[in-house]
Amino acid sequence: MNFNVKEHLKKVKDKLPVGVKLVAVSKYHPTEYIKEAYDEGQRLFGESHEQEIRQKVEALPKDIEWHFIGHLQTNKVKYIAPYISMIDAVDSLKLLKEINKQAQKNNRVIKVLIELHIAEEETKYGFSLEDCRAMLASGEWRELKNVAICGLMMMASNVDDTETIRREMLMAADFFDEIKAEYFADDDHFCERSWGMSHDYGIAVECRATMVRVGTTIFGPRVY
Ligand SMILES: *Cc1c(COP(=O)(O)O)cnc(C)c1O
Repeated sequence: MNFNVKEHLKKVKDKLPVGVKLVAVSKYHPTEYIKEAYDEGQRLFGESHEQEIRQKVEALPKDIEWHFIGHLQTNKVKYIAPYISMIDAVDSLKLLKEINKQAQKNNRVIKVLIELHIAEEETKYGFSLEDCRAMLASGEWRELKNVAICGLMMMASNVDDTETIRREMLMAADFFDEIKAEYFADDDHFCERSWGMSHDYGIAVECRATMVRVGTTIFGPRVY
């Protein structure tokens, strides 16, 4: 082990206010690193590739809650549906429907977050605020009994300017309040605001994040 996972995990945890959940993003890192974090009590891990996560699930303790954090292709949902705890980046109604279908086949309910696209970068997935409003207004999602919509997820622009990051995260937080009031006021599941990664999780907790997804700061640089 050439990276001190325990020490770095502890530093991140010490900076998080009570009640903010930490998803330790372990993609591209070996199972030994995950085991190190597990031994320190960490139970939430985030992965973004179907084959990689499958191998890790088989190799590691069963009480780990796995989050699928990256872009998920609809044809991959069936593979992760039996065990995934949360799918953090639902970026289309089509994907939401497929998750519901596969969850039903597995006789379970899968927790999901809706991914927003607020950042300026073109390449990022997710609903624009307008498209998200339209999707919710269509009401089709109400029929999907095997998914639990637990909140919103977003990635801020990958920039150094902290004011831009803050503005985008606060926009997401305001949007959360808007749709919570309009669609989820009586739904206790809908409570999560997932923003913040290694470089901006400090800002995220100031911008009402309830969940941060931190990889590099815990596990070191990824080797692709
Ligand atoms: C990889 C990834 C992260 C973690 O990024 P770090 O900069 O390593 O903390 C967080 N969220 C998503 C969606 C990711 O794909």
